[in-house]
Amino acid sequence: MSNNKSTEESNISYKIEGLAYEPLGMPTERVIRLNAKFSKNDPDYSQRQEIIRHLITPAELMHRTQKSSPFASAANPAKPNEQADIYAYSRKRMVKEQLIARGINDENVLRAMAAVPRHLFVNEALYPTAYDDRPLPITCGQTISQPYTVALMCQMLMAERGMKVLEIGTGSGYQAAVLREMGLKVFSVERIKELYTNTKSLLTTKLGYYDMQLFLSDGTLGLDLFAPYDRIIVAAGGPSIPEALKAQMTDNGIMLIPVGREKMAQNLIRVFKIGNTYREENLGTTTFVDLIGKQGW
Ligand code: SAH
Repeated sequence: MSNNKSTEESNISYKIEGLAYEPLGMPTERVIRLNAKFSKNDPDYSQRQEIIRHLITPAELMHRTQKSSPFASAANPAKPNEQADIYAYSRKRMVKEQLIARGINDENVLRAMAAVPRHLFVNEALYPTAYDDRPLPITCGQTISQPYTVALMCQMLMAERGMKVLEIGTGSGYQAAVLREMGLKVFSVERIKELYTNTKSLLTTKLGYYDMQLFLSDGTLGLDLFAPYDRIIVAAGGPSIPEALKAQMTDNGIMLIPVGREKMAQNLIRVFKIGNTYREENLGTTTFVDLIGKQGW
């Protein structure tokens, strides 16, 4: 009886899935993804047990990298790229479970979403939640949209590499970075000085996107200086579509803009410019922060 029990026990297979910190006596540190089934009969069982003991959450991992890693200490902090790697697994999972599973199929969008380190666009305290299926607060009472919304907007923009895109509402800079990773020439306008300044430094000095054009102004008036634009994407909702933005579209241009007579309850409108005419398509209800300005609220 007891013999049987121990045989049974040794045949139990364990499924482990998670992140492990992998110094484990190895000369380099890296994060490994564990997704394996194993049983006590496996020759490397004890080694795997050892790995399981090291299974930790991304937040803990971040903490260790910053606080005790020989590669990142107070005197020698982790570089953005090293930090980004820590979240590579969360990012891949976000793409698979939140985007592909819900029908995002534009390869260029998926690739860009997998590349941009979303956590760097929010406050450090929110890093562990950066890849969750929800919008997140940024400074100045604004929000960074849920990953799915960002991806959907990018897909609905039907953009091709090399196109000029005008974004109204730079905010954290996350959507701008995704558009840039999609191979677009990005012009982005923000009306709040603090956001403009912080985001500009993040996008350029920290992330190296020196080819993005960022402006501090009222985006409801567009950005006449560099018009026309192949694509316009508005990240805040206004009462109507600003005429200035329509006028800055190229022929065959496309604009995405949340529009609603009531604040915080809009329809996402896709505007097609064909010659001198505009066709509007309603893509459904949505919620964005207010578009504030001469041709907004
Ligand atoms: N794309 C951003 C979303 C930020 S929320 C991101 O990925 O983080 C929307 C932003 O639009 C806010 O930062 C808000 O300040 C900005 N905004 C609102 N009205 C604006 C206007 N008239 N011109 C420029 N930016 C505006």
